[in-house]
Amino acid sequence: MRVFNFSAGPATMPEEVLRRAADEMLDWQGSGMSVMEMSHRGAEFESIHDEALADLRDLMHVPRSYRILFLHGGGIGANAIVPMNLLGDKQTADFVVTGSWSHKSFAEAQKYCTAHVAANGKTGHGFTHVPPLSEWHLSNDPAYIHLCTNETIDGVEMFATPDVGDTPLVADLSSHILSRPMDVTRYGVLYAGAQKNIGIAGLTIMIVREDLFDRALSICPSAFEWKAIAANNSMYNTPPTYAIYIAGLVFKWVRKQGGLDAIERRNVEKAKLLYDAIDSSSLYINRVERQSRSRMNVPFFLADESRNESFLAGANARGLLQLKDHKSVGGMRASLYNALPRKGVDALVEFMRDFEQKRA
Ligand SMILES: *Cc1c(COP(=O)(O)O)cnc(C)c1O
Repeated sequence: MRVFNFSAGPATMPEEVLRRAADEMLDWQGSGMSVMEMSHRGAEFESIHDEALADLRDLMHVPRSYRILFLHGGGIGANAIVPMNLLGDKQTADFVVTGSWSHKSFAEAQKYCTAHVAANGKTGHGFTHVPPLSEWHLSNDPAYIHLCTNETIDGVEMFATPDVGDTPLVADLSSHILSRPMDVTRYGVLYAGAQKNIGIAGLTIMIVREDLFDRALSICPSAFEWKAIAANNSMYNTPPTYAIYIAGLVFKWVRKQGGLDAIERRNVEKAKLLYDAIDSSSLYINRVERQSRSRMNVPFFLADESRNESFLAGANARGLLQLKDHKSVGGMRASLYNALPRKGVDALVEFMRDFEQKRA
């Protein structure tokens, strides 16, 4: 029996993709091999890789002037990989801190440059909003401006892309990539770990505007240098081959769902169901400003925190798993990634109502 898995990552996968991977586990399309046994330079894997790249480019409408790179290192690795590739001869990078992940990006960048906090969304209740552009204090000549467009832990999502002129915008999309259409051309660099909305851990996707390739610091490890990786079509070293294969299957699944417009409609519905349930109750609390509430990660608290353990136990008994929030925040969090079915949200909302009325 499969549960409804609300984990923030690694996270639930489309069942169809898991079944297909299971079918092909021992023998990928008559090759007599599992994908994980293939040479990354062989024709079979090359076709898997090229198709994944083409499907992602198509889904996100990535223009030809951008390269899509498949790397190792995760979102946290990117916190170092980005400054090492993008500082060039500049000394400063700017950070908009809207939650725990953008704060981590800021802290890591201090190893490489003067990291400047241009805006900080923290209030007495934690991170609950995106500071508007009019309140940002950008530095004089930053190499780039970094954002985290969906804060996985705090549940804060940025829906409008700020207009910052020529300075490259860099965004961490780890927890909402492919959840809705996005205008790639507004950014210099986009990156995301795969294990939230795309697939399995170990693959990091970077989308980089090609004219930014000449800014790498000499200390940048070659395995993480964008220009070298692009020149070798993401095969500078052995890429995470099986994770790329699974990502490719997920891209096909997203296309079959109707692409990002259709996925977004479903995500809006799913998130509304849960936020409406929270807002109409006197037991559940979410403090994020309405216009910045994440569609992917919904943190909430019980007004009576002594009931936390019994809430989680009751949810588990109904097959609703991984609802405990990140240790840094406490309370609950439901992640509603693309692959989490609407039925899972219905079941959660029903359980929450029953629990509040002490019927669960
Ligand atoms: C999960 C996550 C990360 C961290 O990814 P790792 O793969 O564990 O390094 C970074 N940023 C955001 C927004 C995330 O959700």
